[in-house]
Amino acid sequence: MNTVRVRIAPSPTGDPHVGTAYIALFNMIFARHFEGQFILRIEDTDQTRSRPEYETTIIEALKWCGLKWDEGPDVGGPYGPYRQSERTEIYQKYAYELVERGYAYKCFATPEELLEMREVAAKQGKRVGYDRRYRNLSAAEIQEREAAGQSFVIRLKVPLTGECVFDDQIKGRITTPWADVDDQVLLKSDGFPTYHLANVVDDALMKITHVIRGDEWMSSTPKHICLYQALNLQPPLFLHMPLLLGKDGRKLSKRKNPTSIFYFRDSGYLPEALMNFLTLMGYSMPGEREIYSLQEIIADFDHKRIGISGAFFDLQKLNWLNQKKIIESIPEDKLWERIVSWKFNEDFFRKLMPLIHTRIKTFSDFIELCDFFFISDLKLSPERITIKGLTPDATTLVLQAMIWSLDEGENWKGDGLERASHEVADCFGISHKKAIMPLLFLSLTGKQVGPPLFDAITLLGKDITRVRFLQAIELLGGISSKKMDLLKKNWEKRDCKALILPPQTA
Ligand code: GLU
Repeated sequence: MNTVRVRIAPSPTGDPHVGTAYIALFNMIFARHFEGQFILRIEDTDQTRSRPEYETTIIEALKWCGLKWDEGPDVGGPYGPYRQSERTEIYQKYAYELVERGYAYKCFATPEELLEMREVAAKQGKRVGYDRRYRNLSAAEIQEREAAGQSFVIRLKVPLTGECVFDDQIKGRITTPWADVDDQVLLKSDGFPTYHLANVVDDALMKITHVIRGDEWMSSTPKHICLYQALNLQPPLFLHMPLLLGKDGRKLSKRKNPTSIFYFRDSGYLPEALMNFLTLMGYSMPGEREIYSLQEIIADFDHKRIGISGAFFDLQKLNWLNQKKIIESIPEDKLWERIVSWKFNEDFFRKLMPLIHTRIKTFSDFIELCDFFFISDLKLSPERITIKGLTPDATTLVLQAMIWSLDEGENWKGDGLERASHEVADCFGISHKKAIMPLLFLSLTGKQVGPPLFDAITLLGKDITRVRFLQAIELLGGISSKKMDLLKKNWEKRDCKALILPPQTA
């Protein structure tokens, strides 16, 4: 067998997600088991959503997890650059080559045409949205359109008949009629590649032997196989990993669950426990062992033991495992050191002191005032956090709007929270001082009074703050999808007043 080369290819479009660590972990285990290489590639082709700071945080988070890659944007390697934004010309070259060889074509469809095609397809219940109307233009027609300055994308010519068959190494044989696969855009009109083109070209050029990725990419695989065939390249083997699921049985999402790796770090979990837990989500060790080291799973790794269906991300299980790992892997005389390096350190306390300096009568007031920085359960009750004069239901909407406002403002620090809190108060037509501030104090710190809230939140951090909002929403009974849609519509107009009116009594 060729040297095994696997990769993780995150897009830097958000906070480092546990799902990224989960897939990275299995790639690293696979590479180490076969003494191959594990590569980090940054897929930042989505110009509007990618941010360099997210690349930095992804790397920081994966390192905290204990993951190490052999090649990547930060460590270099023989197949670089490992950041797709630095490889645009390579993708363009391949796209135009495919056009020349008749495996791809220029498509001049306007946004209006595309919308119309989608509507028609939806009415007819077809899976393919694009009707391939530019697939067979004559050379003269193409030239004419180009001369007239019409913009175009390059699309892949997917076969019209027959089936795509591939053997997923986890799920078995997967058969897809080609007629169900869209003529995928490869190069956008601005000359940037889509995920599909960049991903396949890079996997080929970086000599990736096994693509181990989440189940959600399975539907893209036929397009990728078609591209490999068009490029005359041997496709890698595919292993589609079971998804991490939230309590609702859907893909784990930050809209409902703690998902940021930094949330787990800042809440005091051990990286080795989180990693052990993540392997359990997709794999079963012989004898159903649940606690083991990374070395142990690497030594015995067998991809046939990877699960097929999604696994519930069960925080209670993680807590149990974390405790076991504390007992097993941290000796008593090292425990304090670990807790100190978590949050009881000089750096954190220096930032904390200005917040409490004028607020303690004796040193013994300190713990009570600041406990919320260090604990996970604020011990709240629905009655306590419900806004006076509103129902619990209405209060959940205010909390959800806070999350959206903070996300949209892209600032979860104190000044961002302050701005968002005013925006939300105006949008719901409720008092900032009497309704919003008590809600924020209680749901984020568990208290009615305490250190200055906005400064405290900067120190508490975005990830814990987000989860506290989610926990408060859950405590109040959650938000149904119907309500969520209604809220979203009203929030976009920044007028949610009608949603929280008290129920009419007859
Ligand atoms: N950029 C994709 C992601 O964000 C990579 C998917 C794949 O591994 O092919 O996960």
